[in-house]
Amino acid sequence: MNILVLGSSGSESPGHNPPAFLVDGFLLMDAGTVSLSLTREEQCRITHVLLTHAHLDHIKGIPFLVDNIVTGRQGCRLSVLSGRDVLSDLSRNIFNDRIWPDFTAISISGSPVMSYRQISTQRPFNIRGYTIVATRVNHSVPSYGYIVRNSENTAIGYTGDTGPTDRFWKRMAEYGVETLIVEVSFPDEMTELAMASGHLTPSLLQLEIRKMRKIPERIYITHLKPFHETTIREQLCRISEANIQVLHDGMQITV
Ligand SMILES: [Zn+2]
Ligand SMILES: [Zn+2]
Repeated sequence: MNILVLGSSGSESPGHNPPAFLVDGFLLMDAGTVSLSLTREEQCRITHVLLTHAHLDHIKGIPFLVDNIVTGRQGCRLSVLSGRDVLSDLSRNIFNDRIWPDFTAISISGSPVMSYRQISTQRPFNIRGYTIVATRVNHSVPSYGYIVRNSENTAIGYTGDTGPTDRFWKRMAEYGVETLIVEVSFPDEMTELAMASGHLTPSLLQLEIRKMRKIPERIYITHLKPFHETTIREQLCRISEANIQVLHDGMQITV
């Protein structure tokens, strides 16, 4: 499995783009950054977007991706997957024919260019032969963490935005996830804000790692607030329990 990091930041500043992870060229986990980082052909190859939640930094690439799909006229289609609450936020507040067109109502050659697919946390579901497991995590709005497993049983976990969680680590152990992408948004000095807004700090992550039944071989950190990056990186170095690496835009992960 190959994961291309299109964006891995918790906000925007030069060289730091919001989260988006392209799995094997077709499956996008979150869509904070898309069209500015991919060619026309690469954008057309994306068939599925798996959204963790509806916050702007995780969805803002979709409007332009779909716009490019329509104007590109290459026959591409996009399926947007998430929980009912997330899809409802998206259709009501973004693709509402006011902020941006409702692309589910725009058809080319007889089929809509964009469609929504509601996912369940009760049972795994399938996207082009990949097994996806969705788990509710703890953020300020309805949010889901995902485990993506290919046909060779290679599995990665992506928390999206979350504060402390038990459910996701339990699921991760069940599915033998050895590669984890987890958020750390704030430095330890901002723990109160992190807890109030459903995010992690380095020390909170350390406590989470200690809760894990089996610690993944590789833990990649995403969603750092750019203005606090240096401090967060220094504090992450104190975690000795796991093999930790901070992601950067443009990085490729092969598992
Ligand atoms: Zn968020
Ligand atoms: Zn976010």
